Amino acid sequence: MIYLREEHEMIREAVRDFAVNEVEPGEVERDASQEFPHHLLEMMKDLGLLGIPFPEEYGGAGMDVLCYAIAVEELSRVSGSLGLTLAAHVSLGTSPIYEFGTDEQKKKYVPALAAGEYLGAFGLTEPNAGSDAAGTQTTAVRDGDEWVINGQKIFVTNGSLAGTLIFTAVTSREPRQISAFIVEKGTPGFVVGKKEDKLGCRASDTRVVFFEDCRIPAENLVGGESELGKGFKFFMKTLDGGRISIGAMALGIAQGALDKAIPHVRERKQFGQAIGSFQGVSHRIADMATEIQAARHLVYNAAWLKDQGKPLEHHSATAKLFASEVAMRAADSAIQVLGASGYMREYHVERYLRDAKLCEIGEGTSEIQRLVIARQLLGRL
Ligand SMILES: Cc1cc2nc3c(=O)[nH]c(=O)nc-3n(C[C@H](O)[C@H](O)[C@H](O)COP(=O)(O)OP(=O)(O)OC[C@H]3O[C@@H](n4cnc5c(N)ncnc54)[C@H](O)[C@@H]3O)c2cc1C
Repeated sequence: MIYLREEHEMIREAVRDFAVNEVEPGEVERDASQEFPHHLLEMMKDLGLLGIPFPEEYGGAGMDVLCYAIAVEELSRVSGSLGLTLAAHVSLGTSPIYEFGTDEQKKKYVPALAAGEYLGAFGLTEPNAGSDAAGTQTTAVRDGDEWVINGQKIFVTNGSLAGTLIFTAVTSREPRQISAFIVEKGTPGFVVGKKEDKLGCRASDTRVVFFEDCRIPAENLVGGESELGKGFKFFMKTLDGGRISIGAMALGIAQGALDKAIPHVRERKQFGQAIGSFQGVSHRIADMATEIQAARHLVYNAAWLKDQGKPLEHHSATAKLFASEVAMRAADSAIQVLGASGYMREYHVERYLRDAKLCEIGEGTSEIQRLVIARQLLGRL
């Protein structure tokens, strides 16, 4: 148990109530059908979840990053798909506009995003730019008062739901320069591809998007002319914050697995007694709880550091790395203690394992987190 302020407990209670009563009942079916729950998104909008960490003057709830992390955790405790949807919208689709946009860009987009008029999305990954995210091949060429964009972004979360996509493109080859832009849904030449068929987080919306001579106004260069060439830096900073939410998502999945495991091992009897009375089972529960608590401290600490405006890179990487691996172990343990039931879809925990895997890949794989952490400690050797 971590003792938090009243506002943190209040948001936890509100999101938990929504998650248990509204989200969990249809989750197994949505996992099978891959159908995005538009009605739940509307409810999240009404609850004010889509703009939690943004100031009220920008249409947000004016709460802190820890409140937002708790909301992602509680959603993910029953639905990795919705946790990911919220995380991608807030941390990736909206935060970089709020943090690096011009006043005009912030006023134009952040209130609409924070109010949930539409979702936000983030386009960094390309066929030849994954872990090596600077390998961007999408280009932006200036033509009068417009930029002409060509290329593609892959695995874009919220791809077809988003009203805005913030993305990177090469604006100069010699010297190499990557800038960030905003494209609005419906812009001619901006084409959203088919929904990906995924291992986990299946109800979330993952798409490829194409730019085919797509013309966007010059004012959609993020930060304005003075920030030309700073897009890659903006995106790396965005990922430092985003990793807190993937850590929170992993934490929620791990907690959800423990929630399913505890009642089962208390009730299931074999050899004439509850299986939780066998040390081989009870120690597994104890290990899950201990690791989850450690992950919670790392994730909440990273959220707190972001709230204080402190350096984040090392702490968000350690939180994401550890929490993701805890989520995988917790989901695996939950399946194991449920036995064959755990292998069945209706008991949820096999979905937790599939959803948790995303946390070890998205926003930088576990190998890349280790690289970031080691580089902080060792420098560039
Ligand atoms: C469901 C989902 C949603 C996503 N949403 C988004 C999104 O909204 N926006 C977006 O831009 N991207 C998104 N992504 C993409 C994600 O960020 C990338 O998949 C991730 O960064 C890894 O890139 P890659 O898949 O190209 O793997 P690769 O870079 O091809 O890596 C393959 C393997 O090689 C390892 N590897 C690579 N380089 C090194 C190294 N230097 N040292 C050690 N190991 C290394 C990796 O760790 C990995 O195990 C999403 C992905 C998924 C699965």
